[in-house]
Amino acid sequence: MTRTIEELIPDYLRGLPVYIPGKPIEEVERELKIHAVKLASNENPLGPSPMAMAAARAVLGDSNRYPDGGTHLLRAKLAERWGVSAEEIFIGLGSSEIIDLAARVLLRAGWQGLTSEGTYAPFSVAIRASGAELALAPQREFAFDLQAIAKAITPKTGVIYLANPNNPTGSAFGREELEEFLAAVPDGVLAVLDEAYIHYAVSMELRDSEEIYRKRKNLLILRTFSKVYGLAGLRIGYAIGRPELLAAMNKLRTPFNTSGVAQASALAALDDKEHVTRCIETNATERKRLSEGLAKLGFRPVASEANFVFMVVGPEATALSDELLQMGVIVRPLGWMGFPEAMRISVGTAEENDKCLSAMARVLNGKDGDALKRAPTQLKKDELAAR
Ligand code: PLP
Repeated sequence: MTRTIEELIPDYLRGLPVYIPGKPIEEVERELKIHAVKLASNENPLGPSPMAMAAARAVLGDSNRYPDGGTHLLRAKLAERWGVSAEEIFIGLGSSEIIDLAARVLLRAGWQGLTSEGTYAPFSVAIRASGAELALAPQREFAFDLQAIAKAITPKTGVIYLANPNNPTGSAFGREELEEFLAAVPDGVLAVLDEAYIHYAVSMELRDSEEIYRKRKNLLILRTFSKVYGLAGLRIGYAIGRPELLAAMNKLRTPFNTSGVAQASALAALDDKEHVTRCIETNATERKRLSEGLAKLGFRPVASEANFVFMVVGPEATALSDELLQMGVIVRPLGWMGFPEAMRISVGTAEENDKCLSAMARVLNGKDGDALKRAPTQLKKDELAAR
């Protein structure tokens, strides 16, 4: 037999894009020998909750033991909070693992997974990696068009992925719109509702998705400890869903997917309401300041319900990001997410945002005087002159 290992890799995996993470801050600092700020991965700039850190330290010494593979304490606590049974809570290695498992359990060749254009890239990757066909509904003004998604459902559709608020555009849909959409989703199609950024959507009444969950049997809600709880590095997230689905996901996950340190930290983080409130409030204040600062520079950031700001800057998006990088400000150009002319800037601390805004101003005003060439494409020359 003259078959190679490479030939064993199915065609649908060969074409998959590689996830491009934000550039690590240490790498930039080492390369450029400057102090850098990272506003590229929508992390929590205020750090983990002090209570979570104390809990992590307290169990670090048990790291010679395997963690609780059944995550009993954390599931029990979350079940109580959500008013569901512990069998309806699944703890994952970040919500990333759960995005993947939903597709692995429910999709295969001959089926279809559906999501929107311009949303979190791992949704499409999970669908394609299952061997199913990927269907994308168009976006409307940088937001999920739930009606277009509902129209795109076919008898082959098995899973639909939604992110609310959406990454990378920061837009969100309201509760009524969601309920209307879910009413149009047949019982035999799973709607995955990824609420990674839900805490930041302070201007919308989005926090009562448990009520929606109770009404629908085909909903999987994803939450993460990576954002408002500040535990991205510990890799832990969870899902609320029907026990039959979660039981199948449990068969596929690795036996000890989340560490004891992550579980203990997550438990403590849930109790640190003060930290959560501080993170939400700081984000709201700084998001407004960053958005207004960018608008003053001539950009048109999309109204954000998350901890980042999205804006179309024109064909020079990557060049602009590179120039900011040289100044120690790491932002995210979005070509890999389907927006070659846009960038996403995570909301940092006041100091980090100031650094970003002043670096942006310096780039735009052009050390070499070519401000217009570098200016946001949506601006007319007279608007620029009036600044
Ligand atoms: N879902 C969305 C919409 C995200 O933007 C992210 C991370 O940025 C995740 C999920 C992944 O989060 P986790 O760290 O829980 O895997």
